Amino acid sequence: MALRLDGKALAKELEQRLAQQVRNGCAQAGRPPGLAVLRVGDDPASAVYVANKEKACARVGVESFGAHLPASSQPQTLLKAIQALNADARVDGILLQLPLPEGLDETPLLAAIDPDKDADGLHTLNLGRLLKGEPGPRSCTPAGVMAMLRSQGIDPSGKRAVVVGRSILVGQPMALMLQAANATVTVAHSRTRDLPALTRQADILVVAAGRPEMIGAEHVAPGAVVVDVGIHRRPEGGLCGDVNAAELEPLVAALSPVPGGVGPMTVTMLLVNTVLAWSRRHQLDHDLDDLVP
Ligand code: NAP
Repeated sequence: MALRLDGKALAKELEQRLAQQVRNGCAQAGRPPGLAVLRVGDDPASAVYVANKEKACARVGVESFGAHLPASSQPQTLLKAIQALNADARVDGILLQLPLPEGLDETPLLAAIDPDKDADGLHTLNLGRLLKGEPGPRSCTPAGVMAMLRSQGIDPSGKRAVVVGRSILVGQPMALMLQAANATVTVAHSRTRDLPALTRQADILVVAAGRPEMIGAEHVAPGAVVVDVGIHRRPEGGLCGDVNAAELEPLVAALSPVPGGVGPMTVTMLLVNTVLAWSRRHQLDHDLDDLVP
């Protein structure tokens, strides 16, 4: 039976560390950390995600500055909202909730976020910092995967890692983080030939393809560590990932479940980025460096 990479339990543990850091630093900083989530329009899934983020903030003592703007907002209005948050001394992290309503281009808005307040770690400058191994906010989902591996004593050093997916959101930063941890990394995508032959070479396999249960028994070597980033609603109800968990469980050494694996860690890493930005701004000591891959 595979070891369960339990992101929900780890997220809870990390929230306690973050709450401790907030308690320890509040007096010196003179204020709690602040996270602003900017939501535009009425996408129902986004409403749920934003509510979850606000609840997580409350659990660790991070103040939420939610702003909800109508779908009819002009780009200039959104830009001004971001600039106001950049200038707001109470705000350490800014997140633009995606997707934006049709007709609004996210690119100039994401670029307008102060890179040091980039809670998502997806600003061009921060992706460059990751590439160069410089400190800065890290992309939340892959950083969450690295924290999951570390918490189970799974050291990527010297291992063969395969990442399925090359998005800027997950696959690319994931590959950079595994490489920075001294894994030998291959990135697969939709044009990769003979995917099963490639993924069978992986000691660590991270799947972020956005294809329900596409990874089956034929894709893994016995004893591999498999992290499933995908998340899908089944037509018949319930959730599944990009991995066929029933097929892999008897074969692999460790597997992250869906739900309860990578998902909860993504929200936690948003808080990590915010609390670290606050700590940096107020020159507070902290013991959170292990969470910056
Ligand atoms: P994305 O932007 O659609 O990228 C998918 C990547 O997978 C692309 O690089 C694509 O290749 C590749 N791909 C697609 N089909 C493939 C196939 N048959 N074989 C090999 N590679 C294939 O998706 P994403 O934003 O990275 O997200 C991936 C999944 O993770 C989604 O299910 C998403 O919902 C989930 N997700 C979960 C969390 C979380 O917190 N749990 C966070 C973010 C995303 P090409 O580049 O060639 O098109």
